[in-house]
Amino acid sequence: MTAPVLIGEDRPAARPTGFDTGCSAPAAPQVLRERGQREVFCGLTGIIWLHRKIQDAFFLVVGSRTCAHLLQSAAGVMIFAEPRFATAIIEERDLAGMADCQDELDRIARQLLDRRPDIRTLFLVGSCPSEVIKLDLGKAAQRLDAAFGGRTRVLNYSGSGIETTFTEGEDACLAALVPEMPAAPADAPPALLLVGALPDIVEDQFLRLFAELGVPIAGSLPARSVASLPPIGPNTRFLLAQPFLGETARALADRGVQRLDALFPFGAEGTTDWLRAAAEAFGIDPAHFDQVVAPGRERAKRAIAHRREQLAGKRISFLPDSQLEIPLARFLSNELDMIPVEVGTPYLHRDLTAREVALLPAGTRISEGQHLDRQLDRVRADRPDLTVCGLGLANPLEAEGLSTKWAIELVFSPIHGFEQAGDLADLFARPLRRRDLLKV
Ligand code: SF4
Repeated sequence: MTAPVLIGEDRPAARPTGFDTGCSAPAAPQVLRERGQREVFCGLTGIIWLHRKIQDAFFLVVGSRTCAHLLQSAAGVMIFAEPRFATAIIEERDLAGMADCQDELDRIARQLLDRRPDIRTLFLVGSCPSEVIKLDLGKAAQRLDAAFGGRTRVLNYSGSGIETTFTEGEDACLAALVPEMPAAPADAPPALLLVGALPDIVEDQFLRLFAELGVPIAGSLPARSVASLPPIGPNTRFLLAQPFLGETARALADRGVQRLDALFPFGAEGTTDWLRAAAEAFGIDPAHFDQVVAPGRERAKRAIAHRREQLAGKRISFLPDSQLEIPLARFLSNELDMIPVEVGTPYLHRDLTAREVALLPAGTRISEGQHLDRQLDRVRADRPDLTVCGLGLANPLEAEGLSTKWAIELVFSPIHGFEQAGDLADLFARPLRRRDLLKV
């Protein structure tokens, strides 16, 4: 294993090479299950937004040069910032069993922590290579935590791309944080926990709305620092901001925290439903709820209306990628009158998205999992007006005359809540505008 490469500290970031990892009926809808070749990023991608969100954490990927390139390419902007992630590269001699990987990892982690005493939480992040050689990062984290625990907490999760998709990286990271959350006293007053990494500005908008509504807030997961994770217990209720947090939801349920079922906060209707779920759980007067929510909801509706003319009646297909597909298809069909043709998702979290699925128009084809060739064949046969897909598929489809939208842009852009509803609609309108301009 080679020493960690701290982007922007020891050597210049690699020349950006794109995101290529090189590794390659509404009430009871029919779900097409697919299994085959996949075309998605891996869970390491989540580090790009998680390192911004959890400001006292450092992410040490235990992976290959490919993993390091992925991070350096995706986070090229980090060269001007204090680096908070790096890759401990597994070399051939590690793969061949010629070196004790646990010893090597200890050495690198110690070197890093000696050099960076400011790191309060160190995540050892697993990858495909570390999984293939069965490197036990849980054991490594325990050992290092015993050595550094007073100063730096050492945790681990997997960002491997084996049989996973990229938003699972966030799910795995947040699930690893749940045991770190202190226990609230049994008689603690009820409070709400927001779950899912949101841009700070969006999280603050929601916190202001909950404060105006009078909903008591326990805090957020992730918190902006691991040290400030809020206490949780049986009196805590949680709202998921992202539909892909199945493991995190299970870990919270194991701690006795109850999930509030709601639509996800996309668009005017989704956001209203999400806020209402909390308001009802905390006994907020419905008239007060309407009064607080109405201005934002009306602003969102007006912003969306600007895009409806362009998007209404347009047919859209989603290839499985971010796991945001189901709630976004609901938003686009219910609020913009788009017609979802196929909504593909890597995993259908049936419990988390049941209400979303029920709001999709009759006849929407839902597919779970990926068989790339078959899905592309269906896109070619359907010829939707817009296809939401991974970066690697967009150019080939554009070359075939199909307009596309990069799925990952929806993860990197602020799209939740009333104030972002117009921008969210515009993300889908833009490729169609561009197509129309190019036609002229
Ligand atoms: S974790 Fe796997 S898929 Fe991701 S960059 Fe590393 S080798 Fe590639």
